[in-house]
Amino acid sequence: MKNWEKNIRKVVPYVPGEQPKKARMIKLNTNENPYPPAPGVAETLKCIDTDKLRLYPDPVVGDLVQAIADFYQVGSNQVFVGVGSDDVLAMIFMTFFNSDKPILFPDITYSFYDVWADMLRIPYEKVPLDEQFRIQSKDYARPNGGVIFPNPNAPTGELMELAQIEDIIKANPDVIVVVDEAYIDFGGMSALPLVEKYDNVIVVQTFSKSRSMAGSRIGYAISSPALIRYLNDVKYSFNSYTMDSITIALGTAAIRDRAYFEETRDKIIKTREWTKEQLAELGFVFGDSKSNFIFAMHPKVSGEKLFEVLKEQDIYVRHFSKPARINEYLRITIGTDEQMQELIDFLRSYLSA
Ligand code: PMP
Repeated sequence: MKNWEKNIRKVVPYVPGEQPKKARMIKLNTNENPYPPAPGVAETLKCIDTDKLRLYPDPVVGDLVQAIADFYQVGSNQVFVGVGSDDVLAMIFMTFFNSDKPILFPDITYSFYDVWADMLRIPYEKVPLDEQFRIQSKDYARPNGGVIFPNPNAPTGELMELAQIEDIIKANPDVIVVVDEAYIDFGGMSALPLVEKYDNVIVVQTFSKSRSMAGSRIGYAISSPALIRYLNDVKYSFNSYTMDSITIALGTAAIRDRAYFEETRDKIIKTREWTKEQLAELGFVFGDSKSNFIFAMHPKVSGEKLFEVLKEQDIYVRHFSKPARINEYLRITIGTDEQMQELIDFLRSYLSA
């Protein structure tokens, strides 16, 4: 071993879902939205003045911050934006999780949390979900250096009621509590009212799912002006120009179109409920997902086998081989009605063969 090797920050990175380059496939593996972004996004893109690319982008991302603040009726000093909510969450870990005590998050959850914690040398404890894959608020009432969980949780899709979230916040007045709402628009109640009520709460959302813009990388946090200031101090100590000027313009156009957002969100919810009925008929077992995916298993065929046979049909879903408790499950993103019909048709013929 070379001497310099001991000073390398060694990390085991997060592994995102596959992005196959096939012309014809049904891609239900990374919780993307099957519908295009709001029409204003394409119009804005057509009018981009490439000469402006000579200039650095607005470091405070003013237009987009204001548009997000307008949408949620909060102050612009309560909004922080980043390059996807992954960027926002990484900044949150760096800014707020600096205690010697472990931060807490569910044992089955977004698998980036332990990667950030390991990379930043933040101690953590994974809190087991209950038998039905649910988060139990009482399990978070113990000494810790911060709390983070998605609502609905990923990859289970299980939603917590606001009262349960408030119980977690009440039990943790001395640390920061982060609610990762990547999937909240598909049927849950946002914890934003709790941001007004408590000074230690941060809500994180993204344009990647309900706003059809995973490719543009836009995420944001909403919290008190004081916490947003701390977050910006760290961000500007790291890289001031993270979001490019084209993305700022496109994101601003997207969030201004409330009607399109509601229309596509409602379509996905309707397709999800239809898919649940079909999967139940085929004998699949799953919880009552309130996200844009369903986490399902079949008692007669292993998760791995189903994943493989679907892939042979160019139908991509997500399978997690670890932890063992979820390795029989598939996480199936909700696509268009036609895509889900094709998935169900294939599963019906495969399971009856
Ligand atoms: N949080 C959760 C729970 C997620 O599933 C994802 C998607 N991988 C993210 C955050 C990050 O999404 P993005 O960086 O695209 O905003």
